[in-house]
Amino acid sequence: MKGRSHRKQILLFLVTVLLPSLVLIGLTVRMIGQEKELAQKRLTEERRRVAREIGQHFLARLESIKLQEVSAVSERQSLPAEINYVNPEVVLICLIDGRQLVLPWERNQQTENVRQYLSDPAFSQKIRLAETEEFVQENYTRAARLYYQALNSAKFPIQREYARLLFARALSKSSQKAEALTHYREILTQPFTLSDEYGIPLSLYAAGRLLEIGEDYEDILNQIQVEIQKERWLSPSGSYLLLDLLEDFLLSTPEAEIIKAANDCKELIQKHIQKLDQAIALQNDFLALGFMSNLGDQNDKKTPFWVLYGNNPWLVSLSTPVSERPPFLVAVSAQKIIASLRADSNFREAFPVDFDIVPENDADGLSLGTNLQDSAITFTGNKGQMFSTPWSIQPAFYLLALLLILGITLFGAYLLWRDVRREVQMAEMRSQFVSSVSHELKTPLTAIRMFAETLRLGRSKDTKTQNEYLDTIVNESQRLTRLLNNVLDFSKIEQGKRLYRPESASLYEIVKSAARAMEYPLSQKGFKLDVQTDDGLPNVHVDHDAMEQALLNLLHNAMKYSGESKEIGLHLKRKDSHALIQVIDKGIGIDPQEQKRIFEKFYRIPSPENERIVGTGLGLALVSHIVDAHGGSLELESELGKGSTFSIYLPLEKES
Ligand code: ADP
Repeated sequence: MKGRSHRKQILLFLVTVLLPSLVLIGLTVRMIGQEKELAQKRLTEERRRVAREIGQHFLARLESIKLQEVSAVSERQSLPAEINYVNPEVVLICLIDGRQLVLPWERNQQTENVRQYLSDPAFSQKIRLAETEEFVQENYTRAARLYYQALNSAKFPIQREYARLLFARALSKSSQKAEALTHYREILTQPFTLSDEYGIPLSLYAAGRLLEIGEDYEDILNQIQVEIQKERWLSPSGSYLLLDLLEDFLLSTPEAEIIKAANDCKELIQKHIQKLDQAIALQNDFLALGFMSNLGDQNDKKTPFWVLYGNNPWLVSLSTPVSERPPFLVAVSAQKIIASLRADSNFREAFPVDFDIVPENDADGLSLGTNLQDSAITFTGNKGQMFSTPWSIQPAFYLLALLLILGITLFGAYLLWRDVRREVQMAEMRSQFVSSVSHELKTPLTAIRMFAETLRLGRSKDTKTQNEYLDTIVNESQRLTRLLNNVLDFSKIEQGKRLYRPESASLYEIVKSAARAMEYPLSQKGFKLDVQTDDGLPNVHVDHDAMEQALLNLLHNAMKYSGESKEIGLHLKRKDSHALIQVIDKGIGIDPQEQKRIFEKFYRIPSPENERIVGTGLGLALVSHIVDAHGGSLELESELGKGSTFSIYLPLEKES
């Protein structure tokens, strides 16, 4: 029965408290999740917006660069062979011939001139004659003379230096080394623009020869440095030759300082070669980039578009074709544009993020807009506060709220649980009380009836026995009265109606009267009551009957819970300004843990031996109430198995 109601309580508790709590937790978790998702979405949206805006800045910058380059080219009437374009971000500008990209070193005015001058009939015939002497007749002296004639009759620098190169070769073959060196040195001083039809500077040929036969390291390096600094497009053949030359150079010179300078040059030329490679690749892929389909309809003023190309990416676009002039291609370094945009403080303020331009198929890439084809932006490192996540506060807030609500709910549930448990216990105690009272009523009533009937039938004739029977009847009815008094008093106390009529009274009288009342029941059970009283104790202000009732309750308990012991003490003495009444037994004693609770109404210690002793759990509650009502105090000293001492302190009246 008890177990079932317990299970019901637990079930009820689970349903009313834990279930809603679980639902609350679930909802909060869901809410936090949604909040997070929303924040993530907002963040993505924000990143997209920033990407688009940066894309617009990019496009504006690119278009203005293109415009400047286009007008520069139209002013100059030719494409520049130098790399130093108007804008430092530009890496390449080249013409489009038909559907073919013409790279700067391929077909410029200069290479045309070289071709034309070197194939000039008068000049080329002289050279051919000399070459026949040199290679067929192997008459180097004569060949040298013929080359020299060609040199003297040259009309253009390229013819002269070309002839000089061959002349120097013939001289060195005819063992005129010193003279050959002078001429090679002369050629070395020529700028890179003076190059043959393959775009190879004549000075590089001379440098190669000088490296072989002379030791002009410094001069060679100087010349290379000066020419590289000019940032001209050098043809691939020229570039590779220069790279070879530098490697030979590094192998043959022992001087550390020169080696360092040469290495720097080598690095520059390697970078140049990378650029050449990318340009050549662009030339090959040009049609695939889709510019030409756009160009087909020349009058259709389509919005300009830029395509991302290459590893160290370039943004490539075509100039809008103007009347009969062919369009040309402008390529700009993406990295350099980023750097130039970031150098602008307004831009930095508006977009305090680091970013990179990547091909559009990059997983993290965000579109920069339709005008920047194949290109996307990625945000690298988030130094700025641009994309800080504001949601981190909200989940914390939700969590806190959840914890608070859960805390309050659980605390409330605990209080409820405690109350319910008390209530249940009280109900149990009440029902036990009813059965105890009935039991306690039944025992004396049975005795009274039995002895009264025996007397009426006149079965026992001798007066001694008759007196004994009458004593028992009186005693049992006294017990009944005490019990009923207890119950009645208790109900009055519960209703707040118990009134005491205190008057000056002698405690000695009260103690004696209680001892007298106990005489018969004690002697019946073989108890010895040791009464000790101090003489001359002043009166106390008490309700005589109530105080006697309290003492009787304590004495009856001493009797009930004495176990094997048959000794009870009842002491009255003075303790400073108080009278002290002690009821002492040497019985079963009380567990320290139970010592507080036994004064509660209906409470009985739930021990197996206690169950065999009848009781209502009201006695001590009444004693406690009576003592309190008289301004006294009640103390208990007890040890399990050794007995208990209940002490009542009552204030003495002032001695007159
Ligand atoms: P009851 O009618 O059960 O005696 P009381 O209020 O008088 O009710 O006592 C409450 C409980 O205190 C008792 O059930 C008993 O377990 C314990 N108790 C009271 N007096 C003594 C005592 N002298 N020795 C041991 N236990 C006692």
